[in-house]
Amino acid sequence: MTDLRSIATESDVAEVISFRTADGVDLALRRVGPADGPAVLLVHGHGVSSEMFALPEIRNVTDVLADAGYQSWLLDWRGSCRLPYNESGPPYTFDDVALYDLPAAVAQIRARIGDRPLFVVAHCIGALALSLSMTAGLLPGLAGVVAQGVFLTPKVSTSARVRVLLGSELLGSRVGHIESDFRKVGLWSRRTLLYAALSRKGDCPDPTCRMVQHGWGMGAKLFEHDHLDSRTHDRLAELFGAIPLSVLPHLRQMELAHAVVRWNVDDDRYAALPENALDHADRIDCPVLLLAGSRNEAWLDSNKLCYEVLSERNPSIDVRYTEIPSYGHLDTFIGRGAALDVFGHIVDFLDETSARLA
Ligand SMILES: [Zn+2]
Repeated sequence: MTDLRSIATESDVAEVISFRTADGVDLALRRVGPADGPAVLLVHGHGVSSEMFALPEIRNVTDVLADAGYQSWLLDWRGSCRLPYNESGPPYTFDDVALYDLPAAVAQIRARIGDRPLFVVAHCIGALALSLSMTAGLLPGLAGVVAQGVFLTPKVSTSARVRVLLGSELLGSRVGHIESDFRKVGLWSRRTLLYAALSRKGDCPDPTCRMVQHGWGMGAKLFEHDHLDSRTHDRLAELFGAIPLSVLPHLRQMELAHAVVRWNVDDDRYAALPENALDHADRIDCPVLLLAGSRNEAWLDSNKLCYEVLSERNPSIDVRYTEIPSYGHLDTFIGRGAALDVFGHIVDFLDETSARLA
């Protein structure tokens, strides 16, 4: 992976693994933390990267996991801004992430950890894709799963729904991806007016911050601005990348269904994936912790809904729901106080689940 941007935490990385998925995409895993102990695969959201879990300027989740004896595995799946696929790769949907990326990453980790327990902590689109892999039966035997923001039942605000629709239908033919870094858009280009419109909300003078805070103009805040460390704020352009418009129709379909659904219904290559993940929730064979900030504007109360639906329809699944007061969405991981306010809930869940496995 020579094109991975170097990161400040590189000295903490014990091992870097480059691997190729069954459909020929080159991805990367980095191991951080103790040489032994239960393993935790961390799955980032779309348009960011595994760096969201490893910010050196805060006490990040890999630091907290390491202190609790857990080994972190940072995955960069094909939607990572540390990889080239969003801007120059062939179009893909979240079906590809569920079918190819996550099972390949888990296989790579299992080959190295043997029988040690493997947990997954996933954020946003990473958690959506994880739910599709799990309900396809592609990730059996995980020790436990933490899904932040959303899992099986995506739900967005009406204004975000309209924007997703506009993004996918009006812009799709003209623009391949939505940039987050204003410096790449330029002061005057055919796209400047569009980007100015997308980033008009918010009070921060930094246009890149306004752009990403409001989710590439989709109308929902991605994080609570005041929860960021100033050093994180100053490098938002580095932490966020482009969003390919090719994923928007899939996202819109899931949002309309309020369920994770397969996009490629007429393509046999994807036959392993369920058409509706919620209908195959019985394939979930491990405890699940659903997390969400009480101010999550990106997915509203999707995870509360998921908790209610699973409790009702699949009472045999061990599912819990924890709401983090005053937090939004991405700040549950990149917020300067997340170690105090959020990560303890994750460690408690992993500890309790590990104790039951022992
Ligand atoms: Zn700002």
